[in-house]
Amino acid sequence: MANPFDLSGRTAVVTGANTGIGQSVALALAEAGASIVCVGRSSMEETEALVVRAGARFHSITADLGSIAPVKSIVSETISAFGSLDILVNNAGIIRRADAIDFTEEDWDAVIDTNLKTAFFLSQAAGRHMIGKGSGKIINIASLLSFQGGIRIPSYTASKSGLAGITRLLACEWAAKGVNVNAIAPGYFVTNNTAALRDDPDRSAAILARIPAGRWGAPAELGGAAVFLASAASDYVHGTVIPVDGGWLAR
Ligand code: NAP
Repeated sequence: MANPFDLSGRTAVVTGANTGIGQSVALALAEAGASIVCVGRSSMEETEALVVRAGARFHSITADLGSIAPVKSIVSETISAFGSLDILVNNAGIIRRADAIDFTEEDWDAVIDTNLKTAFFLSQAAGRHMIGKGSGKIINIASLLSFQGGIRIPSYTASKSGLAGITRLLACEWAAKGVNVNAIAPGYFVTNNTAALRDDPDRSAAILARIPAGRWGAPAELGGAAVFLASAASDYVHGTVIPVDGGWLAR
């Protein structure tokens, strides 16, 4: 029987793939056989070495995803490089921490623009291509804050709750056109994004005590869910947000 998780012949775009979750997802998709296009504002050298070592084709695109200016060229450059765009992973994201009472407009706009607005308009640009060919997979990297309120991160919670909503909306519009739109909600993973939490002994201990698995996640542990949502194995899965959270939401 053919392997339903095989991504040979597919091209995947992963945003924010120089580090953390994006890098791990890019590597997992490469190991499953996809050609990889990494998009971001920092050097992709480390990710390139991992992807090439996995035997996959690699291309990088330098783009600041704090605005939607680059979205159309990301799609056209990907198609010029590898002939198609089959999988889009909207991973790039930022977080700003302050009490809601003091939160600034700048911290609101920066997070919403990167995490939500760019993810939507890059999905729109990729979706035009995917709908045209009748197939495609879009995976949004959501968060536990797609389900919960959190504290001291109002724009992050708004962005990730919005991203879950957009995941469902796009799934409703595009499921019948052959495009699967889904999301992954990581729990607490060891990346730059959570450095401030891990540096705070009280917050760190409180978080750890609530995770049923008894430990923080390693970025490589998200790869399997990404490969599933990128592959034929998930062809009838639409508009879902899959938690990979050590059991946090079950608590
Ligand atoms: P990270 O190490 O901070 O990675 C964030 C990525 O986004 C980096 O590649 C970063 O590039 C990129 N990025 C941010 N702003 C950008 C911009 N304007 N233009 C281009 N690229 C930009 O943290 P991470 O944990 O791997 O985060 C990846 C995703 O997972 C984010 O959407 C985050 O919200 C989500 N997430 C993480 C956790 C967790 O526990 N770590 C939990 C839930 C959700 P630079 O390196 O150049 O800044």
